[in-house]
Amino acid sequence: MMKVLKFGGTSLANAQRFESVLEICMNEKPTFIVVSAVAGVTNKLVEIVELLKADNQKEVRYLVDEITDIFIDIISESFLDFDFVEKSQLVLARYIIELKKCIKSKIIIENQILSCGELITSELLNLYFRYKNYSVELVAAEKIILLNKLGEPDEKLISSQIEKIIKGKSESIFLTQGFLCSDYLGNICTLGRGGSDLTASLIGSAINASEIQIWTDISGLQNNDPRYVNETFPIPELSYNEAAELAYFGAKILHPVCVLPAKNEDIPVRLKNTLKPFEKGTLINSNTKQKGIKSIAAKDGITIIKIKSARMLMSHGFLKRIFEIFDQFSTSVDVITTSEVAVSLTIDNLKNIDLIIDQLNTLGETEIIRNQIIICIVGEGLVTDSKSIRKILEAISDIPVQMVSLGGSKINVTVVVDSIYKNIILNELHERLMRISYVA
Ligand code: ASP
Repeated sequence: MMKVLKFGGTSLANAQRFESVLEICMNEKPTFIVVSAVAGVTNKLVEIVELLKADNQKEVRYLVDEITDIFIDIISESFLDFDFVEKSQLVLARYIIELKKCIKSKIIIENQILSCGELITSELLNLYFRYKNYSVELVAAEKIILLNKLGEPDEKLISSQIEKIIKGKSESIFLTQGFLCSDYLGNICTLGRGGSDLTASLIGSAINASEIQIWTDISGLQNNDPRYVNETFPIPELSYNEAAELAYFGAKILHPVCVLPAKNEDIPVRLKNTLKPFEKGTLINSNTKQKGIKSIAAKDGITIIKIKSARMLMSHGFLKRIFEIFDQFSTSVDVITTSEVAVSLTIDNLKNIDLIIDQLNTLGETEIIRNQIIICIVGEGLVTDSKSIRKILEAISDIPVQMVSLGGSKINVTVVVDSIYKNIILNELHERLMRISYVA
């Protein structure tokens, strides 16, 4: 029974949470523990990088002080023993000196700066575990999570690195940093924001874990967005595909790409709440029994681009030319609908929008519609379930919908609307799909 437990930043936010993490580890008996940076730290590090790019040193100094204070509070509340206080202060000082060196460097060493959060957090947790006589072995994520030349995790290499480390140590517990990795040249880099979930999944699949647990401050993936809808509840079970769709389209509790390595090895992923460890949470696996609509999620910050052209009529290669433009500017498209003379698609990365529009204008007339949201309704078999489709269409009948996509996969329907309708549409859908389907 080898388990991988990953703790997110909110699960490590203060000394009490460190204590809860220890209790959870003692109960769950993991093989690997993966930690994010303490809540808020990576945001501040990202801000530092942005300020350095804008050459704003003064604000950077404040942020370094704020980060230092977050960790000092944890140290002073976690350890009563002077020896451990001193050891942890030394660890913190060492990393803060490194961070300051990176900040002063002539070139911006983004990855080194971003890595500080996870490095300090894991070292402090390691000391805390030692202080509580819970013995773990700290492993540098840089040594085990390796990327290939394409910048993707090299799963074979990851497995062989981990095997070397755990060989002959069947009783050991390993602690490592989420988010951090090495590129194919051996330089430290990251898996992208929220990437610690992917670290856990990669390790889980490498050691063929019995379960991967993702611990946050929410009791599993909810059946709707609790900030907008009353009486939401955690979905007991989800398939890998359902979880991936929901994570991609707005459910913030899980990183969308983390589902894949677990799915490939058929390893169950459990989403649990550090504040309420006794609650069951959500289990993502391949034998879900529960059918029907599982959840509704919303993704903000969406822009629609419409391209209209008579040239599209009866011609071939038009869509290819459109997608080549998005590819050229490394901008991914989420939802797409087409008619004979028009294509509508959505993007959430606006970095190169002006350049994209310039090029699209050579193909046809373009229109940009901003401030949209994608609503995603997910459930195995949904697309062929005519009753549910009717209810979805009824729920959105009074709302000016920009796009509807059905049939892209068997398990989801996506609707794109202006963000001002977020509250109404989430509640309408909840009323018609969730209350009725769960009571029935
Ligand atoms: N600390 C990183 C972030 O905030 C990675 C993670 O938490 O998964 O994005």
